[in-house]
Amino acid sequence: MPQQRDDCLFCSLAREGSFVHKDDGFAAINDINPQAPVHILVIPEGHVDTLRDVGEFDADESKRMLEFVAATAEKAGLTDYRVVVNVGAGAGQTVFHLHWHILGGRAFGEGIA
Ligand code: AMP
Ligand code: ZN
Repeated sequence: MPQQRDDCLFCSLAREGSFVHKDDGFAAINDINPQAPVHILVIPEGHVDTLRDVGEFDADESKRMLEFVAATAEKAGLTDYRVVVNVGAGAGQTVFHLHWHILGGRAFGEGIA
């Protein structure tokens, strides 16, 4: 697992946030500015800036991260939902610690734009 960083908000939240789901190495919290009735952020405890650096997790950690995303959605009662990762400022990323948005509880249109 990558190291934590002292100056990173999401490193802190992954350690000591108000979790909706928690497992070894991963935390899920409610987004402070929800874009859907259910809007959860999955945050790995280890710090990487973006998904571009996902290779810093080992294979088992990466697999468990994806399983944790799916398990978090299931725990939130969602069967249909959208998972979004913004990668880089040009794609809308504002917090530079990898996180997965789980959005659900409303209908989404076809496509992703
Ligand atoms: P992104 O724009 O993809 O980097 O997503 C960052 C997300 O973090 C946004 O949806 C924010 O609403 C959310 N956010 C920022 N600060 C906090 C916080 N302290 N607690 C929970 N969510 C936060
Ligand atoms: Zn961090």
